[in-house]
Amino acid sequence: MKRILITGGAGFLGSHLSERLLNEGNEVLCLDNYFTGSRQNIIHLLKHPYFELIRHDVTAPYYAEVDEIYNLACPASPIHYQYNPIKTIKTSVMGAINMLGLAKRIHAKILQASTSEVYGDPTIHPQPESYWGNVNTVGARSCYDEGKRCAETLFMDYHHQNNVKIKIVRIFNTYGPRMHPNDGRVVSNFIVQALQNQDITIYGEGTQTRSFQYVDDLIEGMIRMMATDDHETGPVNLGNPGEFTILELAEKIVKMTASGSKIIHLPLPEDDPVQRKPDISRARTVLDNWEPVLGLDEGLQKTITYFEQLLNR
Ligand code: NAD
Ligand code: UDP
Repeated sequence: MKRILITGGAGFLGSHLSERLLNEGNEVLCLDNYFTGSRQNIIHLLKHPYFELIRHDVTAPYYAEVDEIYNLACPASPIHYQYNPIKTIKTSVMGAINMLGLAKRIHAKILQASTSEVYGDPTIHPQPESYWGNVNTVGARSCYDEGKRCAETLFMDYHHQNNVKIKIVRIFNTYGPRMHPNDGRVVSNFIVQALQNQDITIYGEGTQTRSFQYVDDLIEGMIRMMATDDHETGPVNLGNPGEFTILELAEKIVKMTASGSKIIHLPLPEDDPVQRKPDISRARTVLDNWEPVLGLDEGLQKTITYFEQLLNR
């Protein structure tokens, strides 16, 4: 049995990771300040004898004896990370310093939930890990993008300077049950709008593309990454290479929910990336032939079923 700390454990991804690691027989310490996460996401785990919930903000140091740390604490949806941009960058940078300091003291392995946003508005398509990115340092998304980029740098520097065992995964757009209905990201927005017969809000023309990964595929990839040899630091892309325009996504969701919603167009947010698709060759090699198994239709169906139940409760 390993003792595992998950920061941001009460969020969308953290709750799935907590559940999976408990099911595999580990002890899970779930740390969260509930900014975008909630107790509701992990309520079903609260009675588990090896689950522990800690209200804490990663911008302050934290101490515990654990074997592994998954550092997920950070709001991920543009509306939430732009709400208090200074806090967002503090969470990424000070959170990384505090968790890396902890990993160094207790000799724990630590995995960073980085993001495809480190590639910014990419000029290379699809994006391999060797691509350095095209990021605006002074735009609306910079607090998130640059915070995550700086965190990657800190992870590498702690590795080289202090021999900390690090793992960096760059996560591409991931969706699934337990996204908050007001999360603001595209999949949950469109499904909630479709189920309530409200207008589907496409930002811009809807020609921008994203690659959508179902949550279970990501969690599998993260766990495999944590289990790699100590010399494997990443970064490794984790995403589903299937690429769709936002208009295609909207039309698919309207059809699958048999919704009466109509599609409307709103202004495109500043610096919204035009295209995004992971090159997952590295993940396939390093993570024992890992690749996403759930296609968009199957993943959307599971997510639609979740939101139907949630909204009818
Ligand atoms: P989420 O917003 O549901 O989860 C983030 C969690 O971190 C929440 O529970 C929130 O309360 C917590 N948190 C925020 N600031 C904190 C702080 N200062 N101290 C302690 N806890 C704090 O988002 P998610 O989709 O589950 O994302 C989890 C991680 O994965 C984030 O780091 C995000 O950047 C990364 N990521 C997610 C995606 C995706 O598509 N879901 C893509 C790329 C990267
Ligand atoms: N988007 C949209 N309508 C929405 C929410 C998002 O058209 O209601 C678009 C958004 O402009 C972006 C894409 O969908 O082009 C993905 O947005 P999301 O916030 O999910 O993630 P990110 O931009 O960080 O990839």
